[in-house]
Amino acid sequence: MNALLTCCAFRVAVPFFFMATGFFVFGPVLAGEEKGRERVKRFEWKHLRLYLSAILLYLPVNVYAGSLPANPGEAVKMLLFDGTFYHLWYFPAVMLGGLILMALLRVSIRCAAVCSGAAYLLGVLGDSWYGIAGEIPVLKPFYDLVFSVSSYTRNGFFFAPLFLFLGALAFRRRLSNKACLAGLAVSFPLMLLEGWLTYSWKLQRHNSMYGMLPVVMVFLFQLLCGGGLGKRKPSTEWMRSCSACVYLIHPAVIILLRGTAKWMGKTQQLIENSLAEFVLVCLISFGLSVVLTAVLPRILRKADQSLPPAKRGKGCKETGRPGETGGNIKTDPKNRAWVELDLKHLEQNVRQLEALLPKDCRLMPVVKADAYGHGAVLVSRVLWKLGIRQFCVASAEEGAELRRAGIGGEILILGYTSPSCFSMLSDFDLTQTVIDYEYGRILQTFGKKLKVQIAVDTGMHRLGERSTDFPKILELWKFQNLEITGVFSHLCVSEGASEEERRFTEQQAADYDHLLQSLERAGITGFRTHLQASYGILNYPEFTYDLARAGIALYGCLSSPGDRIRCPVTLTPVLSLKARIACVRWLHPEEGLGYGLRYRAVGERKIAVVSIGYADGIPRELSGKGCALVRGRKAPVVGTICMDQLFLDVTDIREAAQGDEAVFIGRSGDVCILAEEMAWQAGTISNELLCRLGKRLGRMSVRGS
Ligand SMILES: *Cc1c(COP(=O)(O)O)cnc(C)c1O
Repeated sequence: MNALLTCCAFRVAVPFFFMATGFFVFGPVLAGEEKGRERVKRFEWKHLRLYLSAILLYLPVNVYAGSLPANPGEAVKMLLFDGTFYHLWYFPAVMLGGLILMALLRVSIRCAAVCSGAAYLLGVLGDSWYGIAGEIPVLKPFYDLVFSVSSYTRNGFFFAPLFLFLGALAFRRRLSNKACLAGLAVSFPLMLLEGWLTYSWKLQRHNSMYGMLPVVMVFLFQLLCGGGLGKRKPSTEWMRSCSACVYLIHPAVIILLRGTAKWMGKTQQLIENSLAEFVLVCLISFGLSVVLTAVLPRILRKADQSLPPAKRGKGCKETGRPGETGGNIKTDPKNRAWVELDLKHLEQNVRQLEALLPKDCRLMPVVKADAYGHGAVLVSRVLWKLGIRQFCVASAEEGAELRRAGIGGEILILGYTSPSCFSMLSDFDLTQTVIDYEYGRILQTFGKKLKVQIAVDTGMHRLGERSTDFPKILELWKFQNLEITGVFSHLCVSEGASEEERRFTEQQAADYDHLLQSLERAGITGFRTHLQASYGILNYPEFTYDLARAGIALYGCLSSPGDRIRCPVTLTPVLSLKARIACVRWLHPEEGLGYGLRYRAVGERKIAVVSIGYADGIPRELSGKGCALVRGRKAPVVGTICMDQLFLDVTDIREAAQGDEAVFIGRSGDVCILAEEMAWQAGTISNELLCRLGKRLGRMSVRGS
């Protein structure tokens, strides 16, 4: 009975872990999500790191127990299949299984199903049915070989791929609870029967794989998902780390507990009573894990900052946009209206701007307002890969979003943070702008050391003490809690080409320089300087400061199409905005169109209704003014723009049809619409247009990263 429970019924536990991993990590790949492969890569690296740490953690036990590998062959066997300590086989199994599954999925889903199923079958024959399989002459040498490299078939080759695959399938397909219960009612007794038979016939070489186990697991997993798992967000970061911690340390707790009990002479009460031991191990493991995962991250975050995001301890979160669902709904970012990002162009723009600046000046990209509508996390990850280590945002929330996504380096909040949110500054290691002297005093009273940069006003009169008020600025260095990492100012007419505007900008720079010299004379050093935003870089590249805050230029746009730039530079737009034609219809002469019937057909007109509107960020101002590209030709916007739809006159584009793409920003054939042109028509600048692009737009990268 006991054997049937522990060696058969309870064998559902480990496959469950594999299936959960399959569900969250490989499910998106199966569903064709574009971020899927990237997530798998992160998953593999993360587990490699965990595995290596766990090996080190248990190394003393290996040494104590004398269970170190005797030769290189055995070391490989331990590392690749068996794990160096009793529960650690899971790590190599999940990593190897994942790699195999990805390779199979590259061929086809059917191939993955057939191969992982066949491997599992071979595994079962080498596990609980080995008594029979080992007698078959053709199979014997095969298993001899297998068992010379792995102690069991329960490993990354025979065991893991199938359960990972089944978990991934559950991401796509849902069974009803009724079907699951019925399936379990049949399959579970069959598995117990299989367990009992193989056990009593002494066929088992080991007892973790049964032919019926995958069948049971499919129903059990789906039942436990309850149809809700896909909709709910994956558990919080903390719960994830805590459960991983429990898994890692529980054998150590067992060892410690046994040692302590022996030392106290309480072995009989604590250990021989297996229920007491079980409860104690659970309590201590959980307690310790809570402490470790709540306290350690604060310490680790500091050390983690120096690593690139891909190499960081914390998993990167998706930004949760449509088209990147965490659930089982398959979505296509190109469903109705979407943004395409060419990240290669982002890289080119970075290189172009860097080339303009003096050698020692580094870019400090501005990724506020969701990176001007491009997606702050996505953009920052690319920038990080390019070696950027300084970022600007507008709010503490924006900074926290980047940190949660694993972005390190310095993140400067360019604007105001309410004292009620100062804890975010320290929690997420954000650098706050000192708005003025009084604000600096309030930051000081928060009581914790905070990183800050001091804004100085050189003529815009927005944030910062006046640069001429040197004593007041100097006073800020007396605040012990402020770690001042920078002093910066902002230009306000750097886009202007007139004599007067140039003189004003040069005066701003002179005032800023003067302040910096005064600080230096007062013996204050060790902070960074920056003055230019995009137009400052493009029109005054000769300014020599430590950093330059590039915003709009980085995204390959100017603010307005007429702006003249002093530097020869080729910036390429990163973003395209597209939508689908919902339907095409004909208007008879004189018929009206849309709300208020503002448009009247002159002659027979062919109209395309496009599924994008002002809720997606198309300015309503463009009603009757704007245009889009359909099949490489310009089509004017007619009628009033609605919240979710608008009309194009496609009379001259004979082939225009339902489902076609309409391009609002970007290229179609040989024609191109720039963001600044569209913004200009709407009476605004590209900066505003881009950062108002709606949250419900699909988002996809078409090149790079
Ligand atoms: C928004 C902002 C920038 C970036 O401006 P761009 O013109 O887009 O380059 C730079 N500095 C400050 C202080 C800002 O607020």
